Amino acid sequence: MDAFDREISAAAEILALTRKAAAFCGSGVSAESGISTFRDPGGIWERIDPMEAGTSGGLLSSLAKNPEKMMKIFYDLLEAFEKAECNPGHRALADLEKMGILATVITQNIDNLQNEAGSDNIIEMHGNLFRMVCLSCRRKKKLDRKPFIRDLKLTLNNLKDYSLASLVTLAPRCDTCGSIMRPDVVMFGEAVQDLPRAFEAGGECEVLLVLGTSGVVYPAADLPFEAKRKGADIIVINPRENAFEEITDVYLPMKTGSALPAIVDKIKKK
Ligand SMILES: [Zn+2]
Repeated sequence: MDAFDREISAAAEILALTRKAAAFCGSGVSAESGISTFRDPGGIWERIDPMEAGTSGGLLSSLAKNPEKMMKIFYDLLEAFEKAECNPGHRALADLEKMGILATVITQNIDNLQNEAGSDNIIEMHGNLFRMVCLSCRRKKKLDRKPFIRDLKLTLNNLKDYSLASLVTLAPRCDTCGSIMRPDVVMFGEAVQDLPRAFEAGGECEVLLVLGTSGVVYPAADLPFEAKRKGADIIVINPRENAFEEITDVYLPMKTGSALPAIVDKIKKK
């Protein structure tokens, strides 16, 4: 038995004994679907300054100053989000839920891929790019990812200019009050969504899968420590260095898309 098998078996053994596991997903999980992580080389924050573009006010002023550059970045982002498909890691989490092992997925990703993989109980700490919220009445509306992006790209290509006045015409309108809607995502400086619910789920679980997250974005990064304090076993799957070494019970230094399906197989064979 090699090191890979040993760690996969150890994780499978722990998970097979619980019906109250939770998963805590970072950007690494969706990076395997081609959505580049914001902090990676080549990621979006190398091309724009997060303090400028990561806030809604900053985004509008960057757009006013350099519309061509911002629209190119926006277009590239749309393409990445359009092409992305859920990967074996997302699907293995949905399997673990159907097997009655995984109670909750807590994700920091905004791409809707975990929903599309078939998970039912998801807490999206940073919101969802394909759920709009009305700026006036706060009503929310879910959009279909691919058709929405396809339409948006078409409209974008037909725009005469990138002035704020033209861009506003792109925004979806609220069915109830007619006001502009924006994506229901957390931007820099805004409160994380569902934080109490996420920490409750982290505190209640018996096993926490910590997946593709480096542990540098607070307050989310404190969640595995909270789970450990409440007695959970911690399984970390991440090919990269991360901040959870001292609380890790089982460590798999590999991609979630290879480790999780292997763990699911192992549990099914038991
Ligand atoms: Zn409204």
